[in-house]
Formats: sequence, structure tokens, C-alpha cells
Amino acid sequence: MADSINRSRPSYFIQIALRMRVRMHIVFLAFKVYRSIKKVKLVFSEIMKIDRKISGGKRKYVLKNGKYWIGLYMPAFPSKNFDRYILSEMNRFVPHTFAVNNFQQVNFAITTKCPMRCEHCFEWDNLNLHETFTKDELKNVISKLQARGLGHISLSGGEPMVRFNDMLELIGDADKSTAFWVLTSGFNLDFSRAQKLKQAGATGVIVSLDDITPEKHNRFRGHNQAYQLATKAAQATNQAGLMLAISVCVLRENANAAFLTSHAEAATAMGADFIQWLEPKAEGNFRGKDVTLSTEQIIEMEKSFLSLNHDAQYLHIAPIMYHGYYQRRLGCLSAGKSSFYVDSRGMVHSCPFCHSSDYQIMDWLNNADPKMNKISACPSY
Ligand code: SF4
Repeated sequence: MADSINRSRPSYFIQIALRMRVRMHIVFLAFKVYRSIKKVKLVFSEIMKIDRKISGGKRKYVLKNGKYWIGLYMPAFPSKNFDRYILSEMNRFVPHTFAVNNFQQVNFAITTKCPMRCEHCFEWDNLNLHETFTKDELKNVISKLQARGLGHISLSGGEPMVRFNDMLELIGDADKSTAFWVLTSGFNLDFSRAQKLKQAGATGVIVSLDDITPEKHNRFRGHNQAYQLATKAAQATNQAGLMLAISVCVLRENANAAFLTSHAEAATAMGADFIQWLEPKAEGNFRGKDVTLSTEQIIEMEKSFLSLNHDAQYLHIAPIMYHGYYQRRLGCLSAGKSSFYVDSRGMVHSCPFCHSSDYQIMDWLNNADPKMNKISACPSY
């Protein structure tokens, strides 16, 4: 069923041709904006530098529903939203006057409610409190973010599928210059709901799957059907033609090549277009616990990341996104630089894993000059 939605992993040679095509398009965009060879060269070399640091210059492309996807947090190529994403990145190196996204990605927890009890939950302190926002207030936050230029929004919680009808309306009513993704444990996501998300204009769903052994995943998530719910949600997402990413919090016991390869194979077999690796952080329910990965474990993860993304034998594996790898080379990409986190009580934080509690989102958005109110910098990267 999943294959009826027209997904494929382009061959090695097509990947090379695509890489060239995307680079030429970036040069074309830069010429359009700057009309100066010097500026084009400068901006192109900065973008290539970042690309080399993030992916070794060899990204895997995903072809789905007639469009190419380069990264989980990047719009499909070719598209207007892709151009705006690139223009926003260019603007950071050499400012220009074209429209940009002030925020490339925002993670917005739209509900405190959740049926799971995950060991790593970063919203642990807020779970199942009274809802902070009415549906109209949620819409208002999103429309104000969009007015400032918002490339990608991840609707999370709590469990956003608990607030399904409100979420459908938020997505359906919003301007489509923003990609809407749903971050879910898989709860409540069957084919009919996945179809409704697609019809409302959602781009994709990120399903958390923290272990490929059902009992271990269930224990980690504190719910005896968590594995079944996650696999069913992944299947429904695929069937509805939405993009699918599988996300895993890689615990110390799993930070090894054997687990990471088996997980990547399993996620790919479930139809993942992308796989996301998260490192455990001592925040939320993990606060005060000794969960941080050791240097040796990080080295092992980074080796597996490069091998699974680059080696010819793993061309069939969905591209892996590994934020820790990027951050160690580029510094923090969140903390208000181009992204931030709004928790289910409306507090603005550097990111889901660094709780800075800087402002109430509406106070911040109502400030005429948002640059006056900076979000705290990341203390780790
Ligand atoms: S991590 Fe997500 S799914 Fe798990 S308890 Fe927290 S909000 Fe719920």
C-alpha cells in the first residue's frame, strides 16, 4: 500500500545529478537576488561550507509524490517554499531585500494532554494541566508567527492527536507558506485521521519509535500499546500520502552500530522518508538523571550516521537527521537564531531540550520589536 504513494530512493547517479541541479538552482537564486558575482560566490561558498559540515556534501534525496526532499526541516524541491528557505539562509550571510522566513522552524506544543508517560518527556512538568490556549488563541499565535515568516511548524504537545479537531482547523485555515508537521507517539492516528490531515494541508508526521522491540518501546513510553500505536500510525501516514519521519531518542544502551543499523532498517521498512536521531538530555522527566551519552558513544553514533547516510550498501536506508552531529560542527541552530520552542503553557524556550522560559509567546509576539527580546542562547553548543 505504501508504494502506491509513489516514493523512491533515486539511484546513485540520479543523486549526483540532483545535487548538481539543486546547486545550480541556488546559484540562479543568488544571481536573481544580488546581481553581483562577488556576493553570489560568497553566499554560495558559505552554503556549501554548511552543507559539507552537515552532510559531508553528500545528502541523500527522497523522491515522493513528484517532489525531491533533501532534509526533514527543508521544504520540497522545487517549490516556492524551498526558494524562500534558501533566500532566508542567504540573508544570514549577505543581507538582501527579498522576503525571508524569520523562523525556519518552530516547535509548538498545542496541548498539555497526553496518554503516555515517557521516560524522556521534556514536557513532564506541564503534562495534563489545564489547556493554556483556546483554539482561537492557537490560531492567533500561528498567524502572528506566519506574519513574521515561518517556514516549518512542528505541532507537538503533550500528544497533539488528543486535540485532533482543533489541530485540523489550525492546519486547514493557515497559509501554506508554512509546512505543518505533527509530532506524535502514534496515539489516535489511523488512516481516516491521516487522510484528514493530508486534506487539511499537513506536510508530514513524525512518529516516535524508540526501540524496535515492542516491550522495550512500551516500557520507555509508559504505555502497553505504544509500539502498536506507533507502527499503525506510520502505516496510516504512508497510506494517506503524507511524509513520514521516524524519530528515536538514542539511549546509552542503544548508542551502538548494531542497534542504530537495525532501527534504521526497521524504520525504512515501515516506510520512513526520514529518520531522526535525538540524544537524551537531562531535562523534563530526565532532569537530574545521568542520561547524557559518553564521548565514546557519541563517536560511535557519528560513525554510524556517516556510514548509513553515505555507504552504497545503505542507499536504500532513509536519510538520517542527527542534530547533535550538526550542532557540534555548526553551533546551536535553535535558540531564536532560526528556530525555538513554545511549550504547552506558552513559554518560549531555546529549544525543547534547553528550557530557558524566556517569555510568554503572546507577550513576545505583541512586542513591536521582537529583536529587543532575545531568546536565551544554547548553553551546550
Ligand atoms: S514525550 Fe510526548 S508522548 Fe511522551 S509523555 Fe511526553 S508529551 Fe507524551
